Amino acid sequence: MLVDSFGRTIDYMRISVTERCNFRCAYCMPNTPMDIGDESQDVPLDSVLNFIKVAISEGVKKIRITGGEPLLRSKIVEFIANICKIAPEIDIALTTNAFLLAPLAQNLKDAGLKRINISLDSLRRDNIKCISKRDGLDKILLGIQAAHKVGLKIKLNMVPLRGINEYEIVEILEYAIRLDVMVRYIEFMENTYAKSGIVGLKLPEILEHIRKKYPISLFEKEIFGPATLFKIPKQSLKEKLDCILERDYVFGVIAPHNDDFCKTCNRIRLSSEGKLIPCLYHENAIDIKEAMLQGNTQEILERLKLCIQTKPEKNDWNEDSISKRAFYQTGG
Ligand code: SAM
Ligand code: SF4
Repeated sequence: MLVDSFGRTIDYMRISVTERCNFRCAYCMPNTPMDIGDESQDVPLDSVLNFIKVAISEGVKKIRITGGEPLLRSKIVEFIANICKIAPEIDIALTTNAFLLAPLAQNLKDAGLKRINISLDSLRRDNIKCISKRDGLDKILLGIQAAHKVGLKIKLNMVPLRGINEYEIVEILEYAIRLDVMVRYIEFMENTYAKSGIVGLKLPEILEHIRKKYPISLFEKEIFGPATLFKIPKQSLKEKLDCILERDYVFGVIAPHNDDFCKTCNRIRLSSEGKLIPCLYHENAIDIKEAMLQGNTQEILERLKLCIQTKPEKNDWNEDSISKRAFYQTGG
């Protein structure tokens, strides 16, 4: 079992399988270069599997595959199937922009994927184009429908930005309600790669948009997740949206500025460059690439343990110290 210096059990790994992406989201990546690059830049998935085997043998129970855009990896379905073969009970999830999802959804489900988080910043073609620099709305929506059809458990992620998509907070909420999937609003986290001038909405402002139409109450703070959950009574959905749900609708807001964000942190990250990152908002990282490439199990284990030991108690996050690591590199 992996336990850090503050007694937190680390049983969740977020694995970035590439930093390449077919989008250029304003809050995440620079606009240029626009080309997607090729797979030779990425750590081979067999080598990443060497790391995952060790992590699982040390008690890791949950893995999220992310990026960059993980569906750009040509062997991603095989990779997920291999992880599920090693540990059939593993809770395995993937985060994607859904542009390439529709034709892969069934294969991913068959490979053993259980849950999928899909970024959906807008339901308007122009806004998607403006935020991601790609005319992707149709494909994103097809991807969401396909994932829903094959029975993957979906969560939608939206990053509300001032003057860009903030007026769609309720629209996206209602889209999610009709699909009966959870939406989570993520506060924009400043980083040196985001376009200048981008301003994100904070939790109270996000709730204010929703309160204009629906009554909201606090549901709970996820114990091992980053979101604070709120609920809207089902009666209100019936009256205002003509939508009948069997229970109240629950949505989340991910607000990293909150003090209690770190107390129950159970995760570390593997970046696409082969670095183990104990905390998203700390600069330190431990290089594990060579050990993974060589399949050196002992060295992987030592570096993994070193990473856990150096996990800080709290994140360094504050408005004045902007992160120099972009989400597309660390896996968000
Ligand atoms: N490409 C995939 C996607 O967009 O879903 C997976 C990787 S992306 C880095 C993972 C998540 O990070 C997305 O939901 C995205 O909205 C979020 N994200 C990226 N940069 C962010 C930022 N600066 N602030 C808040 N969320 C961010
Ligand atoms: Fe790509 Fe995801 Fe970053 Fe957008 S948020 S640029 S889709 S990695």
